[in-house]
Amino acid sequence: MDGFGGRGAVITGGANGIGLATATEFARRGAGVVLADVDQPGLEQAVAHLRANGFEAHGVPCDVRHLREVTHLATQASRLLGRIDIVFSNAGIVVAGPIADMTHDDWRWVIDIDLWGSIHAVEAFLPKLLERGGHIAFTASFAGLVPNAGLGAYGVAKYGVVGLAETLAREVKDRGIGVSVLCPMVVETKLVSNSERIRGADYGLASSPDVAGSVGPLPAQDAGLSVDDVARLTADAIVANRLYVLPHQASRASIRRRFERIDRSFDEQAADGWPH
Ligand code: NAD
Repeated sequence: MDGFGGRGAVITGGANGIGLATATEFARRGAGVVLADVDQPGLEQAVAHLRANGFEAHGVPCDVRHLREVTHLATQASRLLGRIDIVFSNAGIVVAGPIADMTHDDWRWVIDIDLWGSIHAVEAFLPKLLERGGHIAFTASFAGLVPNAGLGAYGVAKYGVVGLAETLAREVKDRGIGVSVLCPMVVETKLVSNSERIRGADYGLASSPDVAGSVGPLPAQDAGLSVDDVARLTADAIVANRLYVLPHQASRASIRRRFERIDRSFDEQAADGWPH
């Protein structure tokens, strides 16, 4: 993609945090944006803020758990922007705790939003993107690339998003569609408090997610990364059609160790006489 000027972009989870920062970055680079979110007051505030800065911005209430709402979003966004070139499937919540402590509702909640939300984005938007090319980006997580003890259910959803992005990238690369997947470690947002607020009656009361306890502090070189830094890197990755968007240097060693652990298994099996 040669830039954002004159493009149309849709951002789910666009009312807050990484989504809003990225929408702002897209708009700053010349795109018209549609923000989609379940946080209606946040959505209105975000759209008003973008418009006050002279950007084209619209808000569409949308719960990404429901395919019909995401399909409606695609229709509305086409109408409002006149075109859709970039889709950023970013809406998400977090549930924390050991797998042994996860309730069925914990699993349902995190998979419904964090995994189905991105599948719905593909179902609703890919046919439109295939007509004239474009880019689809997803927010997964560092927890979608390596196991994080205490974030197992979240990790299952986010590994799914990484798999979706990686496979889609292969399948559409010759059809004018770029794919990116953002995999940050901790970024300062209201993810935890928003998650508690959103959970609502559908999934029962949440136990307070101790995300900080699960991931620990960031090393100094990454500690100062803001949502605006992540937004810039994501926009750059879209222009470059870079699949993996990896804001935190500290994630590199863990990712390498995961693949080394997998690779070492072949040697261990060979030492045990495999193949027989
Ligand atoms: P945030 O709470 O500021 O933003 C998430 C947004 O998604 C909110 O506006 C929320 O209202 C919206 N949302 C939640 N459920 C929704 C639904 N069903 N339908 C539509 N919108 C919904 O948090 P954030 O940190 O900016 O999170 C954005 C993404 O980044 C999430 O997918 C999250 O898992 C991921 N992530 C965040 C971090 C971090 O440390 N902040 C790290 C890795 C990944």
